[in-house]
Amino acid sequence: MEATPAPRSGPPASTRLDSYVDRYAARTAGMTASEIRALFAVASRPEVVSLAGGMPNISGLPLDVVGRAVAGVVADHGAEALQYGSGQGHPRLREQICEVMRLEGIDGHPDDVVVTVGSQQAVDLVTRVFCDPGDVVLCEAPSYVGALGVFKSFQCDVVHVEMDADGLVPAALRAAIASVRAAGRRIKFLYTIPNFHNPAGVTLSAARRAEVLEICRAEDVLVLEDNPYGLLGFDAEPMRALRADETEGVVYLGSFSKTFSPGMRVGWALAPHAVREKLVLAQESATLCAPSFSQFAVSAYLSEHDWQGQIKQMREMYRERRDAMIAALHDFLPPSCSWNVPHGGFFVWLTLPPGIDAKAMLPRAVTARVAYVPGTAFYADGFGSSCLRLSFCYPTPERIREGVRRLAGVLEAEMELRATFGATAPGVAAGPRSGYDGPSTDLS
Ligand code: PMP
Repeated sequence: MEATPAPRSGPPASTRLDSYVDRYAARTAGMTASEIRALFAVASRPEVVSLAGGMPNISGLPLDVVGRAVAGVVADHGAEALQYGSGQGHPRLREQICEVMRLEGIDGHPDDVVVTVGSQQAVDLVTRVFCDPGDVVLCEAPSYVGALGVFKSFQCDVVHVEMDADGLVPAALRAAIASVRAAGRRIKFLYTIPNFHNPAGVTLSAARRAEVLEICRAEDVLVLEDNPYGLLGFDAEPMRALRADETEGVVYLGSFSKTFSPGMRVGWALAPHAVREKLVLAQESATLCAPSFSQFAVSAYLSEHDWQGQIKQMREMYRERRDAMIAALHDFLPPSCSWNVPHGGFFVWLTLPPGIDAKAMLPRAVTARVAYVPGTAFYADGFGSSCLRLSFCYPTPERIREGVRRLAGVLEAEMELRATFGATAPGVAAGPRSGYDGPSTDLS
């Protein structure tokens, strides 16, 4: 007897995905799935040490405290917290956000804060408000993959600006502004992550902060300062934000994702008054308002818990993981590799020996049960093939060490392959590659 075929799941056979292609808006051309996304499905298996994802490690959060705060929100503020709220955000939370920003020298007013769905949405709203197709956005080289995805989706042209161990290089910024303008192009803003950069791990030095602001003032370039990691420094007090020394020329973005919970999806923009008004209108058309419930929950957490003490604990936890990663890199990787030692945040940027292609090596790394994000994901122009991002935020120190040990084994095999077959070895790169790896939560 023939078996009855199992009922089909998914769309009917007549619904061909490519039948929609001609109907999509032109801007969706920039929304492409990452070639490495499939690999990350494998990388999330427990036997793989993932040094890829930038997920905050929330294992130390006091869930009892959070639970009580959330219960209190329902009991005491349910009628408001379960209702639509203001497009600009919950007023009490905006005051508390100003207290948080004060730690970085910012004297902001709650009226100039717009609460967003994570700082990711703030990047989207600012780009929506400022950018037409073809406008230029200046970004560090490399830059945050999620922001590159937003810029692409608004059909902006990203022009990368060099960084070194002290962050964005002022002379390179000057040169980039001059060459873009000489080509008759419009620069809409400089997108910068001054603290514990994602993915490069570097921090903009104090001297350079002044210089970058001076250049942007003189050249009339707006700065979009994205600062989700600023309070997660390991060694020193938080750096002074760019926005602390420039009120009109900077839109500052912050987030509770790394200092409390990414699941709350609460971030914010602090903007000059006129820009703030546009951002609120953009927010209303995008979501009506950021989720009221999350805003009340974050507000209750901040007022009922020693959140600064909690951040201190997080910093210790991340510092221990950073130390484990740096020690393992020293112990296992060949001297032809180089990397930076981050003083905060989640990421180490690793440069491979000449000719080794991080993207080509990734399938072999995943087979060896370790994952990372290839450098090309963080460039809009296909560069970065000899680099990769390692994140130390999530795995335990022991797992980090084991992951780096596995990576070293894969790299050694890759170098042998190259020594044997030269430039024709499978997976050996010849110059920059195209193929932008769009954002995904794996690539946060
Ligand atoms: N900016 C940077 C530099 C990030 O690394 C991230 C998340 N990894 C974000 C913005 C977005 O974070 P969220 O939306 O969770 O606030």
